[in-house]
Amino acid sequence: MTTSDEQTMPLDPQWTEIREGVRAICEKFPNDYWMKLDQAAEYPTEFVQALTDGGYLGCLIPEEYGGSGLPLSAGCAVLETIHETGCNAAACHAQMYTMGTVLKHGSEEQKRKYLPEIASGKLRLQAFGVTEPTTGSDTTQLKTRAEKKGNKYIVNGQKVWTSRVLHSDLMLLLARTTPLDQVKRRTDGLSVFLVDLREAKGRGVEIKKIDAMINHNTCDTGR
Ligand SMILES: Cc1cc2nc3c(=O)[nH]c(=O)nc-3n(C[C@H](O)[C@H](O)[C@H](O)COP(=O)(O)OP(=O)(O)OC[C@H]3O[C@@H](n4cnc5c(N)ncnc54)[C@H](O)[C@@H]3O)c2cc1C
Repeated sequence: MTTSDEQTMPLDPQWTEIREGVRAICEKFPNDYWMKLDQAAEYPTEFVQALTDGGYLGCLIPEEYGGSGLPLSAGCAVLETIHETGCNAAACHAQMYTMGTVLKHGSEEQKRKYLPEIASGKLRLQAFGVTEPTTGSDTTQLKTRAEKKGNKYIVNGQKVWTSRVLHSDLMLLLARTTPLDQVKRRTDGLSVFLVDLREAKGRGVEIKKIDAMINHNTCDTGR
């Protein structure tokens, strides 16, 4: 136990070159850039593009699929450095890791089709729809249903809190393919879908922005 209020966590000193490269990019995006974006409620397009051009958002993708094939600690170094400099990775961190599901569970054909374009930033896969209005932490209770009809799946349901979906070409979607009362374990019967939002938007997928955390402004109440 410590009597000091100070809580410290040492940063992994590895990946010096990556940290220097990311820092050099971040220095081009000072506080002023973030403040203007925030006031205009806009996406940090130039910042995300600069990280993409530097290859940092594709760093976890294996080399055979167009990334740099680095381990998770390198990805952590990228994100740590971004935040250390006062920039914000929340707009794009998911571009680094959401592809992990495709890498682990996708077919070879899907990996060859999607991963190189995710690595180059041509495709954005940085949205995942898991949470629903009535289902949060207990994911096994989710209500979104996907039923196979011929060679297609018909999906019905509603997701909420789907971050970055307005800035993503693809979205991972978790849905139940076998009803809960027909499975042995409640974690069975769930499937992941890769939804191409470019085709699905307005043709079954409806996106409504949630204005989060802006209805209780902090004010100066002096005269
Ligand atoms: C800004 C933001 C961005 C998000 N982005 C995404 C996204 O991109 N994609 C997505 O799918 N979801 C996203 N979410 C949803 C987020 O992951 C959910 O909020 C989370 O799964 C918790 O669900 P819930 O809010 O319904 O809380 P609940 O599951 O209802 O939990 C409420 C409270 O009960 C506690 N609790 C729950 N279960 C237990 C238990 N068994 N024992 C003890 N305590 C428990 C929880 O810790 C919590 O304090 C986002 C949420 C926010 C706020």
